[in-house]
Amino acid sequence: MTNHIAFIGVGNMGNPMADQLIKAGKKVKAFDVSPEVIKTAKESGLNVVSTIDELLDGASTVISMLPEGKHVRSLYLGDKGILNKIPKECLIIDCSTIDIETSLELGNESKKLGIKMIDAPVTGGVMGARIGKLNFLVGGSDEAVALAKPLFDIMGQKILHAGAQGSGVGVKICNNMSLGISMIAASESLMLAKRLKMDIRKVHEIIKAASGNNWAMTNYTPLPNLTDGVPSNNKYRPGFTAAMMRKDLRLAMDAAQSVDASTPLGKAALEIFSKFCDEGDSDTDYSGISKMIGGDAWNYPFDPKGNK
Ligand code: NAD
Repeated sequence: MTNHIAFIGVGNMGNPMADQLIKAGKKVKAFDVSPEVIKTAKESGLNVVSTIDELLDGASTVISMLPEGKHVRSLYLGDKGILNKIPKECLIIDCSTIDIETSLELGNESKKLGIKMIDAPVTGGVMGARIGKLNFLVGGSDEAVALAKPLFDIMGQKILHAGAQGSGVGVKICNNMSLGISMIAASESLMLAKRLKMDIRKVHEIIKAASGNNWAMTNYTPLPNLTDGVPSNNKYRPGFTAAMMRKDLRLAMDAAQSVDASTPLGKAALEIFSKFCDEGDSDTDYSGISKMIGGDAWNYPFDPKGNK
């Protein structure tokens, strides 16, 4: 055993996460399928290998950070999946934000082979990944989570163990449904105040101290110049894109449908973010939804792609 970490998917999030591990002295071999991403990863100093055999030979941990459930499924499961090649002693940590069903299937298939697997999607975005301050929302056995903890401590600041395997993606999906709804709520109330020609600064201060407050209102304010360091102050450059919020709201609606849960506001939030994305703003920070909500009353600097 070389005891290295096999890091699969070194895109926007995976690259800086792997980098943190290396800076902390861990041996990391990286793998990706995108030539562009591989080039960037090599330039940033990652040891990118070109075959799965090379990646897995002697690995003690596999970390994956992939876009969606279908990528996780095709990587690990089925005839061409890598699960059969992963050493039994290995711990699998899937950090991708995916559907609960795929995560549970991966957990069950791993268990059949005697391999420990946990789901650990993150919050904190690319910036959190770069500075090792992600929050990990974790599902898995106490034993497996304890094995992963030293690595989480390097890449993150909080490890929130939600319960059995599958609970990490479950809590991530529920959290982001609430976040999508509250970003719209914060945008609607601030834009209503603007149309009422009220002093937005005072309105913001008062709501923050009153019962209408929420995390988006206080920490990720969708209108500029009210809170330091948020994308609305930076022409809505992401941050967390509207496309990602749409993806997470879709996951929430699929999960709701699977258990017959009533989520009318989640459904409305998905419709609103989908419209925003379809109108060409998928790469805009999700707080830019205030632009669509504000209509002709919204007049703030907006250049999400950084062209101006
Ligand atoms: P990304 O698209 O930048 O990176 C994913 C990488 O996975 C890509 O480089 C892609 O080529 C690679 N990949 C896909 N299939 C693969 C396979 N079979 N084998 C090897 N590599 C493969 O995405 P990202 O922004 O890094 O996000 C990754 C996950 O993290 C997503 O589930 C996302 O929802 C979640 N997330 C992202 C953010 C963020 O701010 N970017 C924040 C929190 C959570």
